[in-house]
Amino acid sequence: MDFTTFSFSAAVSAGIKAAGYSVPTPIQAEAIPTVMAGTDILGLAQTGTGKTAAFVLPILNRLLQGQRGRIRALIIAPTRELAEQTHQANITLGRQTGLRSAAIYGGVGFQPQVQALKRADIVVACPGRLLDHIGRNTIDLSRVEVLVLDEADQMFDMGFLPDVRRILKQLPVQGRQTLLFSATMPESIRRLADEVLRKPVTIQVGNSAPAETVSHALFPVAQHLKTALLLKLLGNTDTESVLVFTRTKHSAKRLGEKLTQAGFSSTSLQGNLSQTKRQAALDGFRSGKFQILVATDIAARGIDVSGVSHVINFDVPATAEAYIHRIGRTGRAAHLGDAFTLITDDDKQIVHAINRAVGTPIERRTLADFDYSVVSSDKRSDNSRRRPSSSNGRPKTGAQPRDRGGQTPFSWLSSRRPKSRAQSIAR
Ligand code: AMP
Repeated sequence: MDFTTFSFSAAVSAGIKAAGYSVPTPIQAEAIPTVMAGTDILGLAQTGTGKTAAFVLPILNRLLQGQRGRIRALIIAPTRELAEQTHQANITLGRQTGLRSAAIYGGVGFQPQVQALKRADIVVACPGRLLDHIGRNTIDLSRVEVLVLDEADQMFDMGFLPDVRRILKQLPVQGRQTLLFSATMPESIRRLADEVLRKPVTIQVGNSAPAETVSHALFPVAQHLKTALLLKLLGNTDTESVLVFTRTKHSAKRLGEKLTQAGFSSTSLQGNLSQTKRQAALDGFRSGKFQILVATDIAARGIDVSGVSHVINFDVPATAEAYIHRIGRTGRAAHLGDAFTLITDDDKQIVHAINRAVGTPIERRTLADFDYSVVSSDKRSDNSRRRPSSSNGRPKTGAQPRDRGGQTPFSWLSSRRPKSRAQSIAR
């Protein structure tokens, strides 16, 4: 099957070519004809499946007919990064259509958005800023024909559902097509789907399980040795681009700095950064300027970076769903990827839940050349109060200097994956 099956207009086909897509992904194969038929969709698909183009392409094709310069399609996304990414997909795929896309999210100036909204055909928006525009009457949503609620479960997690319901009240109901995408289907999202979708077709890709191109491994380690183990892993592993997840903004920042100090080209992405800095971190990671990006869940939401070779969970995620979301950043669109998770004794419950979500117990690995017996400095200082210091007087630390060219081969990595990975996808 190729994209000619869908009989897109020449302008949309040119966008597909420009993006470098030749074969539709499974969700595109299923969703595109349904969206083109005007039917509502409940799409159960995680990020990385090609779901964005599954709705963007038929929307562009539809909007080619009819009046220009009115907002006829509205896409609501939970985060600025996802909104920006979808806006960029509109631009790439719609480059020959003459249709205009506007991205609406907070943290950037209001006025340029007002100008962009005056001429837009498609709007990609985060709920908060969209409500600001609605409140100030700077957006006219009365002509919206297609509504997309993207990553609905994340909108719920971030507390946006009341905002989404407020926005829904501003939209035409008659004749509107609604597409709702979610990686998971908690009760709250099922209720929302019942409210907003009319006779939807359910399309499920991957059964909410992680992409099959990802291989998983757990690395049990004591909390105080996590940074040292991460440095060791990074030093020994054949990685291309690595996304590291931490639990808090603070630890993302600190760990990013530690990795830089250790000689890695790394940056961090967390909610305390200004929008400009967030974008710079993301762009730097995308372009390859930074090999490692340390991020929190919220900041990394929707990040689409082709060719992320490793996702490393420095801290376990709070839920199995979050694990699926995190590792959705690697193994995207049939690339191979590895998902490593550092676990401590306190993480037993969540590891159990993740194993269930993945569908099989994840392999546990230890590094042969890593000293797991190093005691934490807290304990050492406790001991030193009781006993005189050790013979050489120097504490032993787990952190090794960077050892990229080290002789310890990680055959489990290099043997499994061919050296040259699939080409990254042009966006
Ligand atoms: P998404 O799940 O929409 O975030 O897409 C994940 C990645 O797959 C993005 O980098 C897309 O550009 C890419 N992609 C989407 N559709 C295709 C396709 N048909 N062929 C190759 N790559 C694709």
